[in-house]
Amino acid sequence: MVRRLKQLASAEVEIPRLPLSTNDAVALMTIHAAKGLEWPVHLALERKIHDVEKLASFDVALGLESVMEALQLAKRFDEVENFAPFRQAKTQWEQPITLSIGRLTLNGIVDLLGPDWVLDFKTDQEFTPQHHRFQLWAYAQATGRTTAHIAYLRHNCLHTFNEEDLQTTAQEAEILVQQILAGDYSAVPSPANCSFCAYADICEVSYQG
Ligand code: SF4
Repeated sequence: MVRRLKQLASAEVEIPRLPLSTNDAVALMTIHAAKGLEWPVHLALERKIHDVEKLASFDVALGLESVMEALQLAKRFDEVENFAPFRQAKTQWEQPITLSIGRLTLNGIVDLLGPDWVLDFKTDQEFTPQHHRFQLWAYAQATGRTTAHIAYLRHNCLHTFNEEDLQTTAQEAEILVQQILAGDYSAVPSPANCSFCAYADICEVSYQG
């Protein structure tokens, strides 16, 4: 169950909220992970904060070292050549989206919305775009965009899901949704699924290699 919900809501997010309402509806929500530098980096990017003190004022528990690292990661979006087209485009920051698929509702926030694309910032140590494909597909689908990008700030690298990639993911998502709505939550342990799972330590069927 956790694997399927996390796949749809993206592994980069907190555990989705569910079920939320009556009549068997299921809603998932993606939010910026509270762990690590994800949140301060997004804050610096969206509000164009370049000042250590200003960014630190949003979270007094965040150490100076972390604040400086967050600013450095955010700065890469302004400087790295791979990200140039997205700096220059007409864009909207932090756009809430809702995608309804039958009784399933996905809620999330698109980091950057362009004319025909969505973009999500990642500060991951690992470069694993396929792990985030459902999140990016949902964002593109909900906004009617045909391309989805991940800006890996730590890697100075851009990954693009083109229209064909998104169509392939749509087919996978359809199967996942049907399984969730049918109550089929049987575990599917694998290195890819379990290595990022927050429940791996307590999961009885976690992939052990
Ligand atoms: S550890 Fe693996 S099998 Fe267990 S819940 Fe997480 S993803 Fe599923």
